[in-house]
Amino acid sequence: MRALNSKEVNSLRLYPDPECTSLKEKMTRYYGVLPENIYLAPGSDDVLNFAFSAFCDSTTPAFFPDITYGFYKVFAELYGIKYTEIPLREDFSICPGDYYGIGGTIFIANPNAPTGLALSLDEIESILINNRDNVVVIDEAYVDFGGQSALALIDKYDNLLVVRTFSKSRSLAGARLGYAFADKKLISDLDLLKYSTNPYNISRLTLAAGEAAICDNDYFESMRQKVISTRERIYNSLCALGFDVIPSKTNFLFAKNNRIDGGKLYAELKKRGVLVRHFNGERTGAYVRITIGDDNEMDILIQKIEEILEETK
Ligand SMILES: *Cc1c(COP(=O)(O)O)cnc(C)c1O
Repeated sequence: MRALNSKEVNSLRLYPDPECTSLKEKMTRYYGVLPENIYLAPGSDDVLNFAFSAFCDSTTPAFFPDITYGFYKVFAELYGIKYTEIPLREDFSICPGDYYGIGGTIFIANPNAPTGLALSLDEIESILINNRDNVVVIDEAYVDFGGQSALALIDKYDNLLVVRTFSKSRSLAGARLGYAFADKKLISDLDLLKYSTNPYNISRLTLAAGEAAICDNDYFESMRQKVISTRERIYNSLCALGFDVIPSKTNFLFAKNNRIDGGKLYAELKKRGVLVRHFNGERTGAYVRITIGDDNEMDILIQKIEEILEETK
């Protein structure tokens, strides 16, 4: 609120800085990368859009897991790009070897959605080493909740694009602010698309909010620790209620209970004013994805689940 002050609002008659110099400077200090290795966008979906546009074409197909962030398929279909969905292992983990020498552009959410599972940095590096001539996009939307970032690898691998967002761990989904880290050649490809379509694509208010968010590290750390500790508490509560819960490195839990189908649990919770996500599909249908809210919201969730399980006895 302090950053979005009346001076900032009065400046709305002026275009924002297309190079986002001031925010990039703060990110440079915070993340220890050079401005030339940073790309900023109105949300990380916008980075992914440009990545499909820039790094895939009729001879460069896309590869991603069969269970992952749903937007990858949408972009591939929009651009008419051939894509292959690589099955996750039985336990929902990604098998790095499946991606070696693949001959196309790789999109991996790490940690993955909706499973919450993460690859280690060594596993990511093995995919990079075995794809020197392919761009590898690592979507780190949830990394601040416990994953290992691939950021440290951008100096070593010029085929790596690390995509991040302010929407999840910095609580700014409504501001629309995403970013990417990569070798300057990949960044300049994204810049070319931006400057050829919409150079002023991040508003002044969003830039100011982003700067304030980067500067207030104490708030960021306390909120993220809070989400992590609530997640662990709810993980234990769900296990105690007979759920199989996948250990999560994100701000959600993917859980199933043999006593009730995922679709049914979703519908029963919705009736009671609680929204979780359900994904139809042979392997995902039994599960629901539960986002971590505040402690009060999570207590209501557990109470409603107890009620539903009691009724379905
Ligand atoms: C939320 C999410 C995004 C999009 O985030 P925005 O920055 O709000 O566009 C991208 N990838 C994954 C895996 C996400 O969960």
